Amino acid sequence: PLTATDLIEEHRICVCVRKRPVNKKELAAKELDVITIPSKDVVMVHEPKQKVDLTRFLENQTFRFDYAFDDSSTNEMVYRFTARPLVETIFERGMATCFAYGQTGSGKTHTMGGDFSGKNQDCSKGIYALAARDVFLMLKKPNYKKLELQVYATFFEIYSGKVFDLLNRKAKLRVLEDGKQQVQVVGLQEREVRCTEDVLKLIEVGNSCRTSGQTSANAHSSRSHAVFQIILRRKGKMHGKFSLIDLAGNERGADTSSADRQTRLEGAEINKSLLALKECIRALGRNQAHTPFRASKLTQVLRDSFIGENSRTCMIATISPGMASCENTLNTLRYANSRH
Ligand code: ADP
Ligand code: MG
Repeated sequence: PLTATDLIEEHRICVCVRKRPVNKKELAAKELDVITIPSKDVVMVHEPKQKVDLTRFLENQTFRFDYAFDDSSTNEMVYRFTARPLVETIFERGMATCFAYGQTGSGKTHTMGGDFSGKNQDCSKGIYALAARDVFLMLKKPNYKKLELQVYATFFEIYSGKVFDLLNRKAKLRVLEDGKQQVQVVGLQEREVRCTEDVLKLIEVGNSCRTSGQTSANAHSSRSHAVFQIILRRKGKMHGKFSLIDLAGNERGADTSSADRQTRLEGAEINKSLLALKECIRALGRNQAHTPFRASKLTQVLRDSFIGENSRTCMIATISPGMASCENTLNTLRYANSRH
């Protein structure tokens, strides 16, 4: 059987953590920073430096990952160690997935989609765009150029177990599984893209579609998984696929006791899908024959990415630095740490 070391050497699974900087709100509330990243692969959750009421969550805890990025890291740096190595995979007929996992407000969308704070609506620095940029660079290499590959993109959302096309005015789509266990999202728009700019336009369309008609953009996006895919085709046939996923906030545990039925159901659905995802990643890492992908819509639509010889995945666990987020942060670190 494979050992943990084999897995890292094989690079089938890479798990890393990214700490976001303290924000204005946390500064104003004089919230203390309880996260230290003492080396490039260690995260410590600890007592704040100043004397405060210590809760049981604040005992020193240390976690080790493939990489840990502190609050000075840029998207480009995070990208280089996570999604970047997976771009090769899809050129070599493989399936790649990259997830951002964490509490709402910890930086998932900033990492994957780009900077949407205030007036900057810059999606060119997110991992979606950086991956697209490198796909087009790679296409020019002689080895790959001769394959005459075409590039397509899809962008959809999974909300309460239902799939909506973000490139087609949120059309609700059906997911079908045929006799050979092939999963298909019926009618999903797959747009041909010829350059990074084409991709940026699609990301903008999808993002505006994602948040439109909602009273609070973040309230909605925190409850849905967004899936952006770059697909390589050769003579119409799938050659490789890269799925980049901005997951729903993982703090939903509290929702399951909410008085509002809809909120409770959404919370339960999110918990279920994040649990299923963990199981599928674990199965992939162990080269397990059986992948429990049917347990949620998210894992079902990603089925082909969890099976096969040449499937690779990376998880970017995003964490907030403040003491008030401590409990969620520990949950995130434990989840991300549980692949073996
Ligand atoms: P999430 O998608 O996990 O809910 P966001 O990506 O929306 O979180 O981040 C919440 C806020 O924090 C946003 O205003 C975002 O711009 C900011 N932010 C997140 N990560 C970083 C970072 N690494 N550097 C600077 N600002 C960040
Ligand atoms: Mg978000």
